[in-house]
Amino acid sequence: MRYCSHCGSADIALRVPEGDNRPRYVCAACGTIHYQNPKVVVGCLPEWDDRVLLCRRAIEPRHGLWTLPAGFLENAESIATGAARETLEEASARVHVGELYTVISLPYINQVYMMFRARLADLDFGPGPESLEVRLFREEEVPWEDLAFRTITRTLRNYFLDRRQGAFPLRLSTLERRPPVKSDLLGAG
Ligand SMILES: [Zn+2]
Repeated sequence: MRYCSHCGSADIALRVPEGDNRPRYVCAACGTIHYQNPKVVVGCLPEWDDRVLLCRRAIEPRHGLWTLPAGFLENAESIATGAARETLEEASARVHVGELYTVISLPYINQVYMMFRARLADLDFGPGPESLEVRLFREEEVPWEDLAFRTITRTLRNYFLDRRQGAFPLRLSTLERRPPVKSDLLGAG
């Protein structure tokens, strides 16, 4: 943060305000404390019979890789409404939003993913401006090596396992920062 969004001053310091216990951006000119909190990503796992709908990303990050339709929750929006909106924007698909299915905390990037199971209303879908391609996949067709995000891989893996059991309990988990690949483990032997 370079300028105070309240008064425009550049005199901003990261410090622990009185009565608080963690550093915040505090404006020295007007005293405003600029709190920052995690962003919520909402999305759908749209189903049609035994297939699921995936989108191939037309934007960075992870251009060209596959994902479930998802994006940042907007202000004044419920999480289910946001999930349906993202599905419409990215896949031009109308869904009946069902149960909340995965909630994944990503503390290292300050995000929380909330993914719903959803039923496609019809087969009238196609790529929105942020997608190159949208299509339905059976389990054995899912491009596991070309999925864009670990949250999406985890949601899909849970889904196909739970589907065999015929029940979809809420899956609550946390993803930590991926440890760096140690170069001495590459090409060893
Ligand atoms: Zn200020």
